[in-house]
Amino acid sequence: MRIGCPREIKNHEYRVGLTPESVHELIAHGHEVWIESGAGLGIDAKDTDYVEAGAKIVDGPDPIFAECEMVVKVKEPQARERAKLREGQVLYTYLHLAPDPDQTADLVKSGVTGIAYETVTGPGGTLPLLKPMSQVAGRMSIQAGATALEKAHGGRGVLLGGVPGVMPGKVTVIGGGVVGWNAAQMAVGLGADVTILDRSPEQLERLGMYFESRAKTRFSNKANLAEAVCEADLVIGAVLIPGAAAPKLVSRDMLSSMKKGAVLVDVAIDQGGCFETSHATTHADPTYVVDGIVHYCVANMPGAVARTSTYALNNVTLPHALSIADMGWKAALRANADLAAGLNVHAGKVTFGAVAQELGYDH
Ligand code: NAD
Repeated sequence: MRIGCPREIKNHEYRVGLTPESVHELIAHGHEVWIESGAGLGIDAKDTDYVEAGAKIVDGPDPIFAECEMVVKVKEPQARERAKLREGQVLYTYLHLAPDPDQTADLVKSGVTGIAYETVTGPGGTLPLLKPMSQVAGRMSIQAGATALEKAHGGRGVLLGGVPGVMPGKVTVIGGGVVGWNAAQMAVGLGADVTILDRSPEQLERLGMYFESRAKTRFSNKANLAEAVCEADLVIGAVLIPGAAAPKLVSRDMLSSMKKGAVLVDVAIDQGGCFETSHATTHADPTYVVDGIVHYCVANMPGAVARTSTYALNNVTLPHALSIADMGWKAALRANADLAAGLNVHAGKVTFGAVAQELGYDH
C-alpha cells in the first residue's frame, strides 16, 4: 500500500503521524511511504532521516492526498486538508467528531474512510490510543505545577521534594486514572507528600497496592476532597466521567480555604475542567491567578513535548497501521473488533453511533 504522512498544519501542532522508525517498519512490510518535506521537524526528524528509513519526500501535501491510499496524521484534518480527501482513501488520525459538525460534514461529503484513534478500543473497553497522551499530560502536570509553585511564577515558593530538615510539598491528585496515576508517580519520585482521591473502590485498591506507603489514597467525597484541597500546595485535577463534562469539584468558595500561592493544574480542562474557576489557557500563557491561587489549564499539554508524545503515539498506532496496510482496511477491521471500533465515517456515512446520534446523522 502507498501510505502518506503530511506535515501537521493545526496551530502550534509539532507532532507528526509517522516517526522515521515507523516508516522503517512499514517499508520492511513491503509498503511505500511518502512524507511531506519538513513534516518531522517539530520532533527533530529531518527529511534525510525519513529517506534513510526508506521514505520518499514530497513537496507539499497535495501528492499525498491525491495519490496515497492511506493518510496517517495526528490531529483532525483542517478545512484545507478536508477539501483534498477522497472516496476510497483511508484517513487514520485523531478525529474527535462529536463536537465538530463542520469537520463531520466535510468528511461525509468527501467519502473518505475515517478511522479515529480516540475510539479504537482495547481489552476491557479501554482506549489505548488515547492512553499515551494521558500518561504524558499526567507526568507533565507535576512539572508544570512545580514550576508554577516558584515565586517568580506567582506560586508560594515551595520545592515539592523539600530538602533534609524541611518538609516536602503536599500534592493532592483528584482522579486516580491514567492522568492521576502518572502524576502521582512523578510527585512521589520528587519526594512530595502525595494524596490521591478517586470514587472507584477498585481503582483505589489498585493505587494502594502499587504505591503502598509512598502515597495516600482517599475516597473522593465532599469532606475528604475539601480537606485534601485546603492542605495542598499543588492540586492536580484528573477526573473523567466518560462522555460527560468534568464535574466541578473545587468551587470558587473553596479557594479561600487554600494557602495563598498554592497551584491548581486542571488537566481535565479539555472536558470543561474540574475547578469552577478554570478556563482553558495556552502554552504561550499557561497560568492566571484567581483569589491568590495560581491556575494552569492548558488544554493540549502533550503538544509541548512533541517528540515524546509522537513516539508514545506511534507505539500504539503503528501496529494497527501495519495491519490496515498489510490486509487492506476492510479485512483488518473484520479481523479486529477493537480496530473496527475506530471506524467513524465511510463512503459518505457516519458509522460511529455516538457521533451519528450527537450530530443527527442516520446510522
Ligand atoms: P481515566 O478515565 O483514566 O481516569 C479518570 C478517573 O477519575 C477515574 O479513575 C475515575 O474513577 C475518577 N473520577 C471520576 N469522578 C471522580 C470524582 N468525583 N472524584 C475523584 N475521582 C473521580 O481518565 P484519564 O485518561 O486519566 O483522563 C483524565 C482527564 O484528563 C480527561 O478529561 C482527559 O480528557 C484529560 N486529558 C487532558 C489532557 C490535556 O492536555 N489537558 C491530556 C490528556 C488527557
